[in-house]
Amino acid sequence: MLGLMQDWPLLCHKVIDHAATFHGGREIVSRSVEGPIHRTNYHDLRLSALQVAKRLDAYGIRQGDRVATLAWNTWRHMEVWYGLLGIGAIYHTVNPRLFPEQIAWIINHAEDRMVFVDLTFVPVVEKIIGELTTVEQVVVLTDADHMPDTSLPNVIDYESWKAEADSDFAWKEFDENSAAGMCYTSGTTGEPKGVVYSHRSNIIHSLAAAATDMLNASARDRIMPVVPMFHANGWSLAFSAPMTGAAMVMPGARMDGASIYDLLETEKVTMTAAVPTVWLMLLQHLEQTDANLTSLERVVIGGSACPRAMTKAFQDRYGVQVLHAWGMTEMSPLGSFCSLKPEYADLKGDALLDIQEKQGHPPFTVEMKITDDDGVELPWDGKTFGRLKVRGPAVAESYFKGAGGDILDDEGFFDTGDVSTMDKYGYMQITDRSKDVIKSGGEWISSIDLENLAVGHPDVAEAAVIGVEHPKWDERPLLVVVRKDGRETEKQAILSFMEGKIAKWWMPDDVVFVDEIPHTATGKIKKTTLRDQFKDYRLPTA
Ligand code: ADP
Repeated sequence: MLGLMQDWPLLCHKVIDHAATFHGGREIVSRSVEGPIHRTNYHDLRLSALQVAKRLDAYGIRQGDRVATLAWNTWRHMEVWYGLLGIGAIYHTVNPRLFPEQIAWIINHAEDRMVFVDLTFVPVVEKIIGELTTVEQVVVLTDADHMPDTSLPNVIDYESWKAEADSDFAWKEFDENSAAGMCYTSGTTGEPKGVVYSHRSNIIHSLAAAATDMLNASARDRIMPVVPMFHANGWSLAFSAPMTGAAMVMPGARMDGASIYDLLETEKVTMTAAVPTVWLMLLQHLEQTDANLTSLERVVIGGSACPRAMTKAFQDRYGVQVLHAWGMTEMSPLGSFCSLKPEYADLKGDALLDIQEKQGHPPFTVEMKITDDDGVELPWDGKTFGRLKVRGPAVAESYFKGAGGDILDDEGFFDTGDVSTMDKYGYMQITDRSKDVIKSGGEWISSIDLENLAVGHPDVAEAAVIGVEHPKWDERPLLVVVRKDGRETEKQAILSFMEGKIAKWWMPDDVVFVDEIPHTATGKIKKTTLRDQFKDYRLPTA
């Protein structure tokens, strides 16, 4: 017997309908790329998205067509995002911080028909336009007055382009399993691969992610997604904020500490989300200016491990609750949140920070297991670590055009490439990426643990640990450190600080100081480049 409930396909544009109907006046505030603050609301944003949909439809964009955006988080990006969704076309958010050759490769691979580009990235598109084999039209996300001189052929400013249609349009209806969005893995580990989200997977994922023990989003929130919409499906915020009726504050092109601080305060942001690198800049700004955070309640930190010192600073010094999160592009992307179950809810001080170093427990719809290299499941004792594998309706089944072949195990689980423990209450903790663990004498050392510890030193701004060749142990850890401005700490001071806090044989064999640690286009430490840089390094112990 089948259930007798309505067939209401889970389509992403229903999110903006809901927001416009029940939270229509709620604001979307953006720092425009041109400079001034721009304000709109869900009611008006929906009308603009309908206009975009009608304009795309008139141009001939059809269901299943891919359209690229090279854009910051702004209201215009949201309009294009929902306009595309509403006709069954596919938003392809390209990471504009990649090398131009990579961007060209990705756009060609996705076969994007149009490119919507922010003013900032017009020079990038100019550089690669000759190589783009499928792009017919470039639209610059600005108005006629701000249109730059450009060598691009067939180019128009967004506002003039959009004005060629009105908003008298009805969304298209189609199967909820239709493709909705596309995001390439940023290639920290090999060639970029396209992950293709469906309308259904996006809706299920955002519902699950919005829940109280996860993002905890509500209509009373003013959410600032600092994480760009082009980074791993924007951590679902372009859906889960309107879905819950939360206001949105979009930082546009400026993510330095002062600009972020300015928006947090003037727009009374209650919740925000980004990678640790961004928060490092904000915390430094707060420290330098002796400023306080007066409205921010919660900060979601993920994308790479959130250092203990960062959690401590936010919570103890600024009264902002840290929510450590983990995920990946292939998971839509949110896979776990470190919110407190009753078993941990009463912890204080260091005991609490110990738990918050974990990446946490998954929302409903994400299944997890850890296994050894042969696929045998490992115990959930908080100590044993193994390959972390996941399964669920918003986890990739395969990559675009079959890249990478079959990516699931016999039980349909996807290997995340992360190594982790699980504790008895179901809290997962990443010990490393399988490619970054340091293999010393047949045992594994977690580079993440060492990094977290090193940045706890008051003079350390950023730290990275890589394995360097060692004649006896195969590999030993090398600690690479960026000092805080004006500090002069030496190697011994850092090693003494770490001593006793980790197993003796985990202690780095050497410490080197650098001015800068290389980052990927999504703000993570680029271990491949670091390993390259230090491939001939001779450890003093070798
Ligand atoms: P890319 O690595 O290509 O930039 P993703 O953004 O999808 O693409 O990265 C996902 C990976 O980021 C995860 O597999 C994991 O290694 C790492 N990661 C994400 N969040 C965390 C976290 N909170 N702690 C440690 N690692 C994390």
